[in-house]
Amino acid sequence: VHQAINRNITIIGGGLAGLTLGIGLRQQGVGVSLHEAGNLPRHRVCGEFICGKGAAILSGLGLKSLLADAVLHDKVHWYHKEKKLFQQKLPTPAIGISRYVLDQRLADFFTCTGGQLHCNQRVSLKNELIPGEGNVFCNGRQRATGKPLWLGMKLHLQSTPHAHTNGLSVYLGDGCYVGLSAIENGQLNLCGLFRLRPGIGGGKLQSLLHYLDACGLHCLLRVLEEGEPDESSFCAVTALDFSPLSHFRSRLTLGDQMGMIAPFTGNGMSIALESASMAIAPLVDYAYQQCGWSEATLIIQQHFSQHFSMRMNIARWLHPLLLNSRSQAALGYLGRWHLLPLNHLFKLTH
Ligand SMILES: Cc1cc2nc3c(=O)[nH]c(=O)nc-3n(C[C@H](O)[C@H](O)[C@H](O)COP(=O)(O)OP(=O)(O)OC[C@H]3O[C@@H](n4cnc5c(N)ncnc54)[C@H](O)[C@@H]3O)c2cc1C
Repeated sequence: VHQAINRNITIIGGGLAGLTLGIGLRQQGVGVSLHEAGNLPRHRVCGEFICGKGAAILSGLGLKSLLADAVLHDKVHWYHKEKKLFQQKLPTPAIGISRYVLDQRLADFFTCTGGQLHCNQRVSLKNELIPGEGNVFCNGRQRATGKPLWLGMKLHLQSTPHAHTNGLSVYLGDGCYVGLSAIENGQLNLCGLFRLRPGIGGGKLQSLLHYLDACGLHCLLRVLEEGEPDESSFCAVTALDFSPLSHFRSRLTLGDQMGMIAPFTGNGMSIALESASMAIAPLVDYAYQQCGWSEATLIIQQHFSQHFSMRMNIARWLHPLLLNSRSQAALGYLGRWHLLPLNHLFKLTH
């Protein structure tokens, strides 16, 4: 039992990493204020497919009930354009749930446990107090410097065509991949990563249609026609940065702010949840004056280095193979003949 609480924690960013950390700290009686730049809930560019250890982290924090209506997926179906390449069985089921719903449930849970949530409060990162003791940066992906190379887009469909009720379908196209998976309430999430094509403009849904067409994913144009797109769920991001992790920073960073894993792994949310979970015990020790800030930060950064570096490096190495038409064909060939070490690659990247 901890005796004296003298130190509070300030979390910057109310995505998965920030909210989960906030809940874990509140459960240990630590004072937490969380500053989120935008509104909650909101749609986010995400495949909404939690694959790997993330679900177990939520259960471990007593949050399993938040996933009660999520869809469980135990397969990944890989396609090259129209053609099915192979099927991958997942070692543990992945969870299909929208970020709109999950983030709101986590935010409600956080405030119920006594956490202070301040929405529409963008913390100025130029502030002199930063990096300061007790500040944890969960403020999402770092913006790539230089010319943007990638575009991420996502859209919900209100009905799920029968072929897509079980498992994640990944469609490889020219310079892109797109995931389709069922989420709560009979909806389908379509989310893709595209190499930016400067010639394509148009707004929202129109851009998505043009990109799918230009990448040769005509089968997905038909899915969109059948599936009643919910245009209010459309969102897009650019300036994504998949460069290597630099752990030992002066700031304590979690989730995407620490480094972004290539989206095809469906593992970014899991890393956000795992990094939050790994940070809880050292931050509780700091809050109860069992250790100093630099010691807590160093312990957490060492955990991250052990658990995430290899995963992210291997994913970074595999990523270009999914985007290039020659390697896509080779992957299809190897997959069909069961020559791809799918289980091994999964273990290395999750
Ligand atoms: C195309 C694409 C597909 C993906 N598909 C999947 C998938 O299927 N499965 C998966 O697991 N992962 C996927 N990911 C990755 C996943 O979405 C992220 O890894 C995850 O959202 C990271 O969570 P986070 O809490 O670190 O950041 P976020 O969820 O981005 O939250 C960061 C929060 O910080 C806030 N913020 C930013 N700056 C400030 C500031 N200065 N002050 C206050 N608040 C601030 C933001 O508003 C935001 O709410 C995908 C990513 C992309 C791009």
